[in-house]
Amino acid sequence: MLNKDINLIEKENCFSKSIEKRIAYQKKHPEADLISLGIGDVSLPVCKPVLKEMKKAIDDLANMKKFPGYGNQLGIKELRKAILDNEYKKYGFSVNEIYVGEGTKTDSTSILELFDKNSTILVSNPSYPIHENGAHILNRKVYKGKVDKEFKMVVPNKKYDLIYLCTPSNPIGNAYTKKELKKWVDYANKNHSVLLIDNVYKPFVRSKDIPDSIYEIKGAKKCAIEFRSFSKECSFTGVRCSYYVIPKEIEKGINKLWDERTINRFNGASYIAQVGALASFKDEAKKENKKHIDTYLRNADYLRKELIKLGFKVIGGINAPYLWCETPDRLESWKAFDLFLKEMNIIVVPGSIFGTSGKYNIRISSLGSMKDSKRAIKRMKEYYEKDY
Ligand code: PLP
Repeated sequence: MLNKDINLIEKENCFSKSIEKRIAYQKKHPEADLISLGIGDVSLPVCKPVLKEMKKAIDDLANMKKFPGYGNQLGIKELRKAILDNEYKKYGFSVNEIYVGEGTKTDSTSILELFDKNSTILVSNPSYPIHENGAHILNRKVYKGKVDKEFKMVVPNKKYDLIYLCTPSNPIGNAYTKKELKKWVDYANKNHSVLLIDNVYKPFVRSKDIPDSIYEIKGAKKCAIEFRSFSKECSFTGVRCSYYVIPKEIEKGINKLWDERTINRFNGASYIAQVGALASFKDEAKKENKKHIDTYLRNADYLRKELIKLGFKVIGGINAPYLWCETPDRLESWKAFDLFLKEMNIIVVPGSIFGTSGKYNIRISSLGSMKDSKRAIKRMKEYYEKDY
């Protein structure tokens, strides 16, 4: 018998429909010069200091004295230690609470295997679809939370066992403040819930009231698991490496249980990826990677200002590479997608993909090039200034 819960993945809730529409349009109009403002991938290369170490790692494969084989299911020791020293020592963690994965997409879903299968799961609406879809695939019960005017999930009145919070957020592009996260931490500790914090966009945080980590919030070590990725910071979207923290304070024996599970379910991230990730903690690499993120943020700032001038309502784009926009005439999101595609030859992401409350929004990304953003804004000006 097949796992029918895979069919619970809402068809609206995936990118394939927009890809199909784009392909059909391009087939009909092969001359169209489409600009994508929809991309979630990066547009800058892996930096040289990281590449240098990865090339050496390839040579290790030819040398049986250095040859990496099986046995690093939880992550290579040096990398786990570098993550601890650079990111988590200041919160009092030990290396046994740090895990290396091959991407937050996988990690943030696989973590459900640590919890009872009857656990109730809360996701935001709108949210990064993978959290909900992953829960369906693993036959878990998923509920959707309510959001405020800024599309941030409101702390519920009733208990949920596991709560996904994405901060800084994909798709909204804003982030929960320390004060807002404190409310979630207090809720979780009061209800014996666990917060699953998707913190992939941490490198984009620039505002003082937005914490780099959930563990800046008092009480978070008792109730929060945090996920981060090398994908955006190091341009590792195709290389695949990530990390996460499971605090021992959540429950006695939690790390032992997870180690056991992981050793039996995973053979570790690629050695070459882990060596590259390790190199990203060198000063030279940190500098290069920060420059990349600053470039995306400059692009976000440009897009944000220009879209506001054009009459869009815009959220985000300050501590994240995404802008959550409402068109001047509040078009339904798929209509806005079609309009951008057909009238301006621009690809955006319809907000409905992320949940029903994204019905009147589109997501615009700054992960592309400034050159493309400028060309896209020029087209939008031509279109909207003609109409408004
Ligand atoms: N979490 C969020 C919120 C994302 O936006 C993405 C990718 O865009 C991921 C996770 C996936 O990260 P990874 O490449 O590490 O699997």
